[in-house]
Amino acid sequence: MPIVYEQHEALRKKVRDFAEKEIAPLASELDEKEIFSVDLSNKMGELGLFGITLPDKYGGAGLDTLSYIIAVEELARVDSSQAGIVASHNSLGIGPIFDFGTEDQKDKYLPQLTTGKKLWAFGLTEPTAGSDSQGTKTRAVLENGDWVINGKKMFISNASTPISAGITVQAVTGENNGRKELSTILVERETDGFTVERILSKMMWRAIDTAKLSFENCRVPEANLLGKRGMGSKIMLNILDGGRLSIAAMGLGLAQGAFEAALEYARKREQFGRPISKFQSIGFKLADMDVKIELARNTLYKACWLKDQGKPYGREAAIAKLYCSEIAKEVADESLQIHGGYGLIKGTPIERFYRDQRLLQIGEGTSEILRLVISRKLGI
Ligand SMILES: Cc1cc2nc3c(=O)[nH]c(=O)nc-3n(C[C@H](O)[C@H](O)[C@H](O)COP(=O)(O)OP(=O)(O)OC[C@H]3O[C@@H](n4cnc5c(N)ncnc54)[C@H](O)[C@@H]3O)c2cc1C
Repeated sequence: MPIVYEQHEALRKKVRDFAEKEIAPLASELDEKEIFSVDLSNKMGELGLFGITLPDKYGGAGLDTLSYIIAVEELARVDSSQAGIVASHNSLGIGPIFDFGTEDQKDKYLPQLTTGKKLWAFGLTEPTAGSDSQGTKTRAVLENGDWVINGKKMFISNASTPISAGITVQAVTGENNGRKELSTILVERETDGFTVERILSKMMWRAIDTAKLSFENCRVPEANLLGKRGMGSKIMLNILDGGRLSIAAMGLGLAQGAFEAALEYARKREQFGRPISKFQSIGFKLADMDVKIELARNTLYKACWLKDQGKPYGREAAIAKLYCSEIAKEVADESLQIHGGYGLIKGTPIERFYRDQRLLQIGEGTSEILRLVISRKLGI
């Protein structure tokens, strides 16, 4: 049965209530102290936000892509870090196993990953391979029925928390006609030779865990290969198409939160004997924000609709990611401008929004790479 408008809006309300009641009071302190909250992840799990699109048999909620996107949007309206935890885990953590895993792999990992008590990470980026996702240097060699992995990964979300259960790693597993053979391999967190180091002092997303990873003669069973040998890059890029919807939802939600903060502040703040919202230049800024958010929401929801219909959505996902992340920057900037000097003080939501939006034009494809992807769809 297709999910109807009323169900989407009921979910929106449920997630909004949770975000306002449980996350908003903590967001500033978690950001300031760079705390990853196990408790909030557990609660988001209880709310059904992990594995939201997965079937019931794996503990999922069986909802559609738009439901998932609305949930991420509502979390990001309040706090990008918690939205990032849910988005990374669902699209990058669960996604590869659900879309490409064998039945055994799905049965083994997915039920624990839908609870909010365990997280799974996505290991593509390396110190010398960022936008160039095929520049992977991490190698995996088959030895006596095990993959032996050596290499490093950089900027990996959800990889070093107390509840991180493992990671999907892209590694070079050989060569084919002079080209690297790239494969994806599942590595559990406690495997010998796999070490993690949390990256601290980020300017944004300070309450989500980001880590550097190292693999030194790390051995995992041959059966941990995800998908077929040599399919690694296809798997990772396919997952990134869906991941782009998540980043777009984070941009949309953040823009919505920044807009609402600006509107409320402009109505309350008085200068020259009247609320600043009465000045045309402020009113027009708010109108422009409203227009951008409306267009962003339509663009993103259309991409979700295409995905839910089983139609190609790569172009639309790229457009949504690019547009939503760029309007998040513009809206956060104008919202801060409306807050005047008060917007520059730490501890205000707009100050956090202004920092948090900056990742969105870089993660899961920079704005430059997104323009490249879109221009290629034009046959250029
Ligand atoms: C907080 C955070 C969380 C992350 N989480 C994950 C994760 O969970 N898993 C994961 O695998 N990765 C993750 N990443 C990595 C992220 O996806 C990369 O940072 C991103 O892909 C860009 O790579 P880079 O930082 O190495 O920049 P580079 O690729 O070095 O790019 C530097 C600049 O050069 C530009 N550039 C590069 N190539 C081109 C080109 N062909 N044409 C035009 N311009 C170009 C870029 O647009 C950019 O402006 C995360 C990053 C951060 C900061």
